Amino acid sequence: MEVDSATVWTDCLEVIQKQIDEQSFNTWFKPIVPLRHEGDVLTIQVPSQFFYEWLEEHYVHILKKAIHSVLGENARLEYSVVVDSGNQLNPPLTVNYPNGKGKTPVSPGGNGNGNLEDYSPFTLRTLDPRTVNSRLNPSYTFENFVEGDCNRLARSAGVAVAKKPGVTSFNPLMLYGGVGVGKTHLVQAIGNEIKQKLPDKIVLYVDQNDFTNQFLNALQNHKLQDFQNFYLQVDLLILDDVQFLAGREKTQEMFFHIFNQLHQTGKQIIMTSDCPPRDLKGFQERLLSRFKWGLTADLQEPDFETKLAIIHNKMQSDGIQIPTEVAEYLAYSVDTNLRDMEGVLNSLIFHATLLKKEIDLDLAKEVMKNIVKEIQSDVSVDFIQKTVGDYFRVDLDAMKGKIKKREIVIPRQVAMYFCKRYTQLTLALIGENFGGRDHSTVIHALESVEDMMKTDPNFKNSVDELAKKLKMRMAS
Ligand code: ADP
Ligand code: MG
Repeated sequence: MEVDSATVWTDCLEVIQKQIDEQSFNTWFKPIVPLRHEGDVLTIQVPSQFFYEWLEEHYVHILKKAIHSVLGENARLEYSVVVDSGNQLNPPLTVNYPNGKGKTPVSPGGNGNGNLEDYSPFTLRTLDPRTVNSRLNPSYTFENFVEGDCNRLARSAGVAVAKKPGVTSFNPLMLYGGVGVGKTHLVQAIGNEIKQKLPDKIVLYVDQNDFTNQFLNALQNHKLQDFQNFYLQVDLLILDDVQFLAGREKTQEMFFHIFNQLHQTGKQIIMTSDCPPRDLKGFQERLLSRFKWGLTADLQEPDFETKLAIIHNKMQSDGIQIPTEVAEYLAYSVDTNLRDMEGVLNSLIFHATLLKKEIDLDLAKEVMKNIVKEIQSDVSVDFIQKTVGDYFRVDLDAMKGKIKKREIVIPRQVAMYFCKRYTQLTLALIGENFGGRDHSTVIHALESVEDMMKTDPNFKNSVDELAKKLKMRMAS
């Protein structure tokens, strides 16, 4: 019958006590709890990562000697390190290390490429940064990530982290924002940059889905040790779409544990989410509080100028010329998100390269029809024309028609003025919406409205009243 762990440990302590002074003994050996004794392995629990490192640094020989003298030459020691002492609701979390600085030897036959998938049970390996699959898409870079007001803070934080991963106070870096605002692009750009500049760092990108599946897999196949060992060797961990961890208690616990370990050892963690940490539901409080340790930065919907730049950027990198009016039309019309924009642009590229069609407004409109929903803005041109028309008692046809009478021209100009103020349409596109007028006519209209507002208080009142009506509509 196997001797229980408490007895084995008491015997070990006797050996140890003879070799060190009382104070060291009380400080470093008394707090240790024997956990298991199975075969040649004795597992002891130590209260913290620091404690474990101290033991390995200063007492490894004494420990080895003691355990060999009690259990024989083949005996081995393993640590279970408490990383979170837990509370009433959450049990303590521990991580296991084999004896020997936690750096496990490369297994002799190990020629895997450092993916978790080819981690076989019981072979603990040191990952090789040159062969590890980082799961990064090399086409996401800083160079092709367009900077705008909408993403400036997030981008600069990303650049800082890419320069000095784990060293800045932006750890973890938490980026959040709606669909298609560039979160994945940005975090991958950070990963790619670090991989390129610091090739001996192990970079890993996973989305929440991968992480959860790997974890469940490991759980089922009794490979949790491998799973942990793999993740704890990563220097930069990027976890995308963390909001989907909501309600997954076990996975959260594992992530919490990995997070703590990496953070403590100065490794960089980057996460993305669709909302700020305070709004994440279904998360353990202790995990949420960790998310707020570093820097939280948001990415907003890109504004018109940024969208335009993104369009030009993408087309240029594909070597395709796109007329300004088409770019402007798309920047205005695709108001759902940048992923839809990507779809439209790819489709345009397809038409232009394979079907050898020229990219013009008609083609763009055709493609748009199939991909995104109806053109919308905060307030539509139609709505402006109708509201202004009703106010001045001018019908829609007249608004768009050729009549040059003053009682029609003025409402038409006022409507153009509001289109400029309340939509993101370019002058040319505004003109187009008013019976195909050109942009100089629109400029003239804006100037006359502004002049009249300065000189005619009644006119100014009318414009202010209309502005209120339109704003009410935008707010609703
Ligand atoms: P998210 O992860 O926030 O949903 P993505 O990173 O997947 O968004 O971005 C959607 C698409 O838009 C991608 O093709 C991405 O390259 C592109 N994109 C987003 N923001 C930018 C930007 N600032 N510059 C260039 N491309 C961008
Ligand atoms: Mg994403």
